[in-house]
Order: sequence, then structure tokens, then C-alpha cells
Amino acid sequence: MGRLALEVADVFLAHGPAWRQAQRGHLSLTQLKVMSAIERCRSSALGGHVLRCAGCGRDQIAYNSCRNRHCPKCQGPAARRWLAAREADLLPVEYYHVVFTLPAPIGQIAYQNKAALYGLLFDIAAETLMRMRPIRSTWARASAPPWCCTPGARR
Ligand SMILES: [Zn+2]
Repeated sequence: MGRLALEVADVFLAHGPAWRQAQRGHLSLTQLKVMSAIERCRSSALGGHVLRCAGCGRDQIAYNSCRNRHCPKCQGPAARRWLAAREADLLPVEYYHVVFTLPAPIGQIAYQNKAALYGLLFDIAAETLMRMRPIRSTWARASAPPWCCTPGARR
């Protein structure tokens, strides 16, 4: 796979330090490690190896991957497989992307109580959708805010 014109790592490298400084106190160690992994992925910072073509002798440097589960470079193939599997499950109807968000004042509380607050948000979102449409939807269980794709078939 060739290099994309603009990658998440490019954005993090260009704006990450200022953003981290502005968000200091609001970012977890895990979030900081993810940003660092994405910035360093497939760069000389993680080392690499030289591949040599047996036919022409041409060398190619291949930098090591970060293998972080949030890295778009490392998880690209897995994401494409997941998407293809979800597409195979789709009904032949129109779908809507539904995102549940929190008002800003409650979002500030969520910084301190992520597990409890997002757990409640997922529960409320699921209950709301089940009341509206008692049919299967695809959920993003590990993301915040919660989102889903739900069929738009009329009753
Ligand atoms: Zn990576």
C-alpha cells in the first residue's frame, strides 16, 4: 500500500505538541501513548530493516510498525476486513448514521467519570433505539460518543 497524501501521523506531528499542551490535564497516559505510537509508526524512530531484491539487487528500507490497536496504518487491513464483514450483514434498505453526544457541561463531567458516564450514555442510547426500532443495528461499542448505523425502513 502506498503512502496516503495526508496521514493521521502527519497531523499529529504538525499539531500534536501544541494540542497536547492545550489539553494538558485532560489527556490520559494511554491517549498520549497512542499519539506517540502513531507519530513514530513506520519511521526511523522505531528502527527498520533493509529488503534486497534477489533479482536486481535493489534495496528498500522498511521501517517497523508500532502495532498499536488505534494506529490507522497498522490496523488498516483489519478495519477493511471488519467493514467488509459488516457490509455483508446489511439489509437492502437505506441506513442512517446516528451519533449520541453529551451537552458540553456534562462532557466536562465525563472527563472525570468516563466509565460510569459513557456506560450510562450507551444504555440510554440503546434503550432509545430499541424503542424506536426493534431491529438490529451496528454499534461502535468502544468509542465515545457512541454511534450506530440503523436501518431506515419504515414501519
Ligand atoms: Zn502503527
